Amino acid sequence: MKLQDIKTPAYVCQKSKLESNLNLLHYVAKESGAKVLCALKGFAFSPGMPLVSSILDGATCSGLIEAKYAKEHGFKEIHTYSPAFSDDDIDEVLAISHHVVFNSFTQWKRFATKAKNSSASIGLRVNPNVSASPTDMYNPCAKYSRLGITKQNFEFDFLDGIDGLHFHALCEESAWSLKIVLEAFEEQFGDILPRMKWVNFGGGHHITKSGYDVDLLILLIKNFSQKYGVEVYIEPGEAVGWECGFLIASVLDIVDNEQKTCIIDASAECHMPDTILMPYRPKIRGESQNGKFSYRFGGATCLAGDIVGAEAGDPIYSFDNPINIGDKVIFEDQIHYTIVKNTTFNGVKLPSLAMMDNDGKVTVCREFGYDDYAKRN
Ligand SMILES: *Cc1c(COP(=O)(O)O)cnc(C)c1O
Repeated sequence: MKLQDIKTPAYVCQKSKLESNLNLLHYVAKESGAKVLCALKGFAFSPGMPLVSSILDGATCSGLIEAKYAKEHGFKEIHTYSPAFSDDDIDEVLAISHHVVFNSFTQWKRFATKAKNSSASIGLRVNPNVSASPTDMYNPCAKYSRLGITKQNFEFDFLDGIDGLHFHALCEESAWSLKIVLEAFEEQFGDILPRMKWVNFGGGHHITKSGYDVDLLILLIKNFSQKYGVEVYIEPGEAVGWECGFLIASVLDIVDNEQKTCIIDASAECHMPDTILMPYRPKIRGESQNGKFSYRFGGATCLAGDIVGAEAGDPIYSFDNPINIGDKVIFEDQIHYTIVKNTTFNGVKLPSLAMMDNDGKVTVCREFGYDDYAKRN
């Protein structure tokens, strides 16, 4: 169908854009020798998974459920890290995963026998205590962080059976930030690296954002793997889904309380959660800085603060032409960290999942409704 005929709300992934992200990530892998994994935490979108799993080297998973999903979608390598695995999950995690990363020596010791009896390659997540994350919400090296083992807590005598180290300290960051983190990591853990088979540089590399220094990333990886004789992994999530699609909604009503607010059939709270949490202001297609007609966009929920862009301090969008009830509105770049975080708060309908091919044809792949709400509540 054509985009204008789609039932809203819907996430629409543009295949050509996803492909070009994946091709760039594949180029990084080829030139640097690293393996590139898709972090499902940020980008799990069934209609796009055949493409992702065929071009990237594997998936990185936050626990058993994501690992099962990676297996179902045919990812070549499955890497699983969780801040803590439960006794219930660990056997299956070890059976499904190629790499399993523990977050503490307590977890490692608790599951060491099982781990040694499995075919998984085992690693430990360390906390290099350096990060340039924009906010503490997204800083794994913030004070009192529970994520990763600091050098101070590292038990250098318990490494029998450990093949690799993992760190994740970046969020939407440049190759220069990686360089800084890498130097701190080497300084603290460099001594044991020759005993390791692999090192995982985590995610947060904003590789597909224009201006990212891809050559520097490739150089850092090459130098590192040569110096220590280890295989390097990176596991971006956001960079996979970056600017590869949008959320389309319809205007259901327009209320005017000293300022016009469009009520849409989508929700910032339920469907664009990082606009509230990060926070940031998503672009709306067709907005015009000096447009004469200005609106706020609010979700069809009862949450007063469910206003797009309000938390980022700028909820007013301007346009050259008036908006009417029934119009469709497109919120740009809403594929990563959205679908994976959706809620059915207020019973608001979950947006459908659709794919747009290279000549603009849209195929709706998943639709949701009452059952999805009822099953979870
Ligand atoms: C979130 C996360 C990633 C992916 O991060 P992006 O910012 O989406 O690239 C990778 N690894 C770990 C351990 C993470 O927590």
